[in-house]
Amino acid sequence: MDWEELKQIAADPLCTIGTHTLTHPMLAKADAETMRHEISASRSRLQEPLGSAVHHFAYPVGDPGSAGPREFTAVAELGFASAVTTRPGMVFTEHGAHLHALPRLSINGNWQDRAALEVLLSGAPFAVWNRGQRVNAA
Ligand SMILES: [Zn+2]
Repeated sequence: MDWEELKQIAADPLCTIGTHTLTHPMLAKADAETMRHEISASRSRLQEPLGSAVHHFAYPVGDPGSAGPREFTAVAELGFASAVTTRPGMVFTEHGAHLHALPRLSINGNWQDRAALEVLLSGAPFAVWNRGQRVNAA
């Protein structure tokens, strides 16, 4: 995909472009300066050619070993409106207090035929996975 194609997608009101770092590091394993640079420089790298602000972030890898409270705080301090982890789960009202640690339903094709996708979208597997805990932002 080139920048012109990306600009067309960004102009669609149904699409939102977020950023995902420059080099895809496991941010929790990086020093604080590198972590913040990866986040903020990746936003600048997108904003300049797109000519529009980038307000959303996705943590590389995104599991608890890759993104935790330090990263959630940094993304908030850097002014992002929201950020997604890969912690499995559904979004609940309570996530309004944890907008920089949102869960995500990964659609990657692994064991995901249409029937399986419908089960995932029901949220039932995540209720079991998370033992009923609705927010996992620690
Ligand atoms: Zn990635």
